[in-house]
Amino acid sequence: MTIMSPKIINILLVEDDEVDIMNVKRAFKRNNINNPLYIARDGEEALTMLRDKVVPFPKIAIIDINMPKMNGIELLKEIRKDEELKIISVFVLTTSNVDSDIIEAYNLNVAGYILKPLSFEKFVEAVSTLNNFWQLCE
Ligand SMILES: [Mg+2]
Repeated sequence: MTIMSPKIINILLVEDDEVDIMNVKRAFKRNNINNPLYIARDGEEALTMLRDKVVPFPKIAIIDINMPKMNGIELLKEIRKDEELKIISVFVLTTSNVDSDIIEAYNLNVAGYILKPLSFEKFVEAVSTLNNFWQLCE
């Protein structure tokens, strides 16, 4: 009998807001998502973690747009320019109703975005949708 080792999909969350980090963690728990979740507090930290391989390669990144130092759009641009990193599926978290941000994110090939602030229930729903997406990645 062959024991299949399940493929682990690592997820990187790039978010500067502690409350939103907690919301993501709670929504994951609520949806029984047990993927390893790594956290970076801004774009610069995320890029260092990815390039220096501080964390296992994340197939999926959830990136907040509004962050200090390097924001989500700037980070996305760096990811898409990088031969190794450009295959990461990115979901964007944004408070911005600014269409230009969302259009720019889509031009940078994001898999989807979540508009903040969400009620917790809506957020759980959104994460459940993401979960369906990355099960397809497996
Ligand atoms: Mg933020």
